Amino acid sequence: MKKSMSPQCGRCESKECRDGMDCFSQTSNHRQLYQDNHIAELHKAASAIEERYYGKETRLGEIILFAKELGYKKIGLAFCIGLSEEAKIIDEILSKYFEKAGLQKTDSIGINPTILRSMLDMKIAIASGKGGTGKTTIATNLAYSIAQMGKAVQYLDCDVEEPNGHIFLKPYIKETHDATITVPEVNTELCDGCGKCGQLCQYSAIICLKNTPLVFEQLCHSCGGCMLVCPTDAITETQKPIGFVDSGAADSVKFVQGRLNVGDVRSPTLIKKVKERTANDGLVIIDAPPGTSCPVIEAIKGADFCLLVTEPTPFGLNDLKLAVGMVRELKLPFAVVINRSGLGDEQVYQYCDKESIEIILEIPDDRRIAEAYSVGKMIIEVLPEYRNDFLRLYESISKRKAGQKV
Ligand code: SF4
Ligand code: SF4
Repeated sequence: MKKSMSPQCGRCESKECRDGMDCFSQTSNHRQLYQDNHIAELHKAASAIEERYYGKETRLGEIILFAKELGYKKIGLAFCIGLSEEAKIIDEILSKYFEKAGLQKTDSIGINPTILRSMLDMKIAIASGKGGTGKTTIATNLAYSIAQMGKAVQYLDCDVEEPNGHIFLKPYIKETHDATITVPEVNTELCDGCGKCGQLCQYSAIICLKNTPLVFEQLCHSCGGCMLVCPTDAITETQKPIGFVDSGAADSVKFVQGRLNVGDVRSPTLIKKVKERTANDGLVIIDAPPGTSCPVIEAIKGADFCLLVTEPTPFGLNDLKLAVGMVRELKLPFAVVINRSGLGDEQVYQYCDKESIEIILEIPDDRRIAEAYSVGKMIIEVLPEYRNDFLRLYESISKRKAGQKV
């Protein structure tokens, strides 16, 4: 295209500017502009986002990622009055990722953000003896509230059979890795049918029937013992898929979740793989599976503190007792969170009182919370005043860990 001082890009057929053609001799001006640190920073972030997400993200998704790349906490929205309805939708989406104007300052509730940021790094596991008590509600709201204060937070969804933290946190998943497990494979040509593998295996994952070894992969604990004991080297190890581990970010919350393949039972192995991605610093929130069996033990093992979420009903009490027995066995410091308080009866309160168990937080049985839950929203999105309760919860646990009396 011939150089012209009057740009007519709309009529240009060749678009050679895409290949670097400097049609209007602006290169030197641009270079000068990039001397400005702020412009250079914007340019760098824009290029990085384009490189990583071009064609993969929507424009709005790119804007969110761009603002995050630059570390922005608040984002302004300018719009024409004729597009008010559309602006409302955009505002609703952006408010999930950025601070809303007019949020209450933490100083005003007696929690200094600087102190909060310097509070202890630790791992808090959120568990419950029973499914559906609001474990994920507590875990996601706690993670998000603390992250909003500038503290590094990571959320690990270890409820790998039905992870649902993503519904509330709405993370961007940046990486997905296959999770595999090592199981034995028998070469029948080398096997002499001695049966030593079956005799060794404590899980009956390999048994010898009529001098022929059979492997039951779902029972295998990948100890490798059968391979070591085999006198003919007939056993080798092979990898079998059990699910996936996703990593990403929900606003400033680092997000990891495990997804177990349908029909697979090896959730402890997958939970281990999720926990291998635990951050070295900051607050780590572990959303454990319900119940009191192996998967929960694997999830809460190594935590500094465990919150047991229950509801004040006879069912809640029954499963709380089991969960208390579990954390006591593991010698894990813990406290109870009562969700939907005001519902049911007094038995959970009486039990906690008798057992000297502290009830550290109560979330009332509030229709607005139930409505938010039903559309995948966190409590603090619809009732921001609850954020203070979650901040105090963290403060209280942090002080305990530091050995102070709360
Ligand atoms: S690897 Fe261990 S658990 Fe699996 S079949 Fe062999 S001995 Fe059994
Ligand atoms: S130990 Fe080895 S040789 Fe013996 S039955 Fe098992 S696979 Fe075959």
